[in-house]
Amino acid sequence: MTARIIDGKAFAAKVRGQVAEGVARLKADHGITPGLAVVLVGEDPASEVYVRNKGKQTLEAGMASFEHKLPADTPEADLLALIGALNADPAVNGILVQLPLPGHMNADLVINAIDPAKDVDGFHILNVGLLGTGQKAMVPCTPLGCLMMLRDHLGSLSGLNAVVVGRSNIVGKPMAQLLLAESCTVTVAHSRTRDLASVCRGADILVAAVGRPEMITGDMVKPGATVIDVGINRVERDGKTRLVGDVDFASASGVAGAITPVPGGVGPMTIACLLANTLTATCRANGLPEPE
Ligand code: NDP
Repeated sequence: MTARIIDGKAFAAKVRGQVAEGVARLKADHGITPGLAVVLVGEDPASEVYVRNKGKQTLEAGMASFEHKLPADTPEADLLALIGALNADPAVNGILVQLPLPGHMNADLVINAIDPAKDVDGFHILNVGLLGTGQKAMVPCTPLGCLMMLRDHLGSLSGLNAVVVGRSNIVGKPMAQLLLAESCTVTVAHSRTRDLASVCRGADILVAAVGRPEMITGDMVKPGATVIDVGINRVERDGKTRLVGDVDFASASGVAGAITPVPGGVGPMTIACLLANTLTATCRANGLPEPE
C-alpha cells in the first residue's frame, strides 16, 4: 500500500469537538441551546441505527435532541402536520427526515415542507438552488464532509480534475456543485457513462458514490489521485457481514496518493457535518456570526 489513509473518524471527532465548543459558547453568551429534530417513519433497521447515532452525538455536542418515530403506515398528512409543528417550534433549529420514506409518501413533497432555514440535510429545493448558484445554503452533509476532507488533505482544489461517480440528489450532484465551486474541472459519471475506467483515470480527485461493492478498482485510479469512497455496502464474507465501500481498497490503495477507508472515512464525517449545520442554522436564526 502506498496511499495515505484519510482518517475520517479522527477528523470527525475534531469537527464534533469544534461544534461542542460553539454550542457551549452559544449557551454561555446567549442562553441558546441548538435543537435538532430527527423524524423516522417506519422500522428500516439501517435507518434506526443512523437515527440512534445522530441522537447520541447531538446530545454529546450539548444540543437538544428531539426524536419522532412514526409507524410505517402513518398518513402523509400527519407527517406534514408534524413538520409544520417543528417548523414553528423555536426550540428546533434543525429538522431531518430520515430517508427513505415508505412508498406511499412523496419524499419531494415532504422534504420541501421543511422550513429551508431548518433544512440541515440541505435537500430542500431552495437550498439546492442556492448551492447551485453559489449562494449561502444549507449544504448536504455527506458531500460537505467529503469536501472538508479534500480541503484538509489537498489545500486548494483549484484547477484539479474531479470525477464524481454517481449522480444522486443527496450525494453525487451536490458533490459536483461543491467541487465546481472550488474551481475543479468536474465530470459526473453514472450508469450510462461509456468507458468509466478511462474517465476515472483522468481524475486527480475521484469520488465514488455508487452503492456497488468495490467496483472502482486500482486500474481505474490515476497514480497519486485522492480517492473519496462514499459507498457503504454490506457484504457477506467468510460467514460474516462486513462493510465495504464502492472502491476496492486493496488495489486502489496501491495506486492512489490518499484514500478514505470504509468504515472510518466519509461515514463519521456525515453526522459531524449534520451537527455543524445545526449549529450554523441556530446562529443564522438568531442573527449571530456563523462558526467558521
Ligand atoms: P443512489 O442509488 O441514489 O445513486 C447511485 C448512483 O450510482 C446513480 O447515479 C447511478 O447511476 C450510479 N451508478 C449505478 N451503477 C453504476 C455503474 N455501474 N457505473 C457508474 N455509475 C453507476 O445512491 P446514493 O447516492 O444515495 O448512495 C451511493 C452510496 O453512498 C451508497 O453505497 C450509499 O449507501 C452511500 N452513502 C453513504 C453515506 C455516508 O454517510 N457515508 C450517505 C449517503 C449514501 P444512474 O443515475 O444512471 O442510475
